Amino acid sequence: MNSSPIVVLRSVSKTYRHGRDIIEVFSDISLEIHEGEFLYLTGPSGSGKTTLLSLIAALDSPNRGQILVSGVDIAHLSLTAAARYRCEQVGIVFQSYNLLPQLTALENVLLPMIPGHRFDRGRALDLLDAVGLGNRSNHRPPELSGGEQQRVAIARALANDPALVLADEPTGNLDEESAEKVMTLLLRSCRERGKTLLLATHDRNARHHGDRILELGRGSLNETRARGVLHSKRGSRTS
Ligand code: ADP
Ligand code: MG
Repeated sequence: MNSSPIVVLRSVSKTYRHGRDIIEVFSDISLEIHEGEFLYLTGPSGSGKTTLLSLIAALDSPNRGQILVSGVDIAHLSLTAAARYRCEQVGIVFQSYNLLPQLTALENVLLPMIPGHRFDRGRALDLLDAVGLGNRSNHRPPELSGGEQQRVAIARALANDPALVLADEPTGNLDEESAEKVMTLLLRSCRERGKTLLLATHDRNARHHGDRILELGRGSLNETRARGVLHSKRGSRTS
């Protein structure tokens, strides 16, 4: 294990209000993720995997607790600061690809570079090459298969060379063969570039490569490894 943690969650709680209903997703969870680590986030549907990734991506805010990324608390940033943080430090891969259908694959990869004025066509083409789509750069998403679209999304996530990559069930919409290819490319692209990866997944094959496995359930986060549970106390530190 190297260096100081890139992500630290301290006693983070998240509750949604829906009319009069209050949904407590998790409470008092703590976690440290070190640079270059791969973490696999598991747990049943509705356990809060997407919510946790959204908090770390500053797409949403916790009700309580701190979320430090590279030493800065990102839990309650303004909309502008949150957008800048995502642009500079985080790459996100969604289950449903979220490419802009009217843009080509190349333009989709270039898009995140615009706000930081780091428009680098050569880099975008290299990233498409790295996911095996160098020859499809002028194709639009509707002309690509699901697996190919997700590979474009991986290239887009890496466009600004973020330290942290968040992937939310990136193979959830794919058939087995495409899923395997996408997962291999995601892991390889992140590993080769020294990225820190937090991956919500049900893909059992992927988890074998994992440095750490976290499981969300019943409002708490537990760290497990292949041979059993390491921490099981509600809200326990998991590093
Ligand atoms: P997972 O990704 O593990 O399936 P989610 O993070 O999507 O879980 O959801 C966790 C819980 O929070 C679920 O009970 C879900 O219904 C609820 N939830 C998620 N987003 C919202 C929201 N915007 N408003 C109300 N409840 C929500
Ligand atoms: Mg989810």
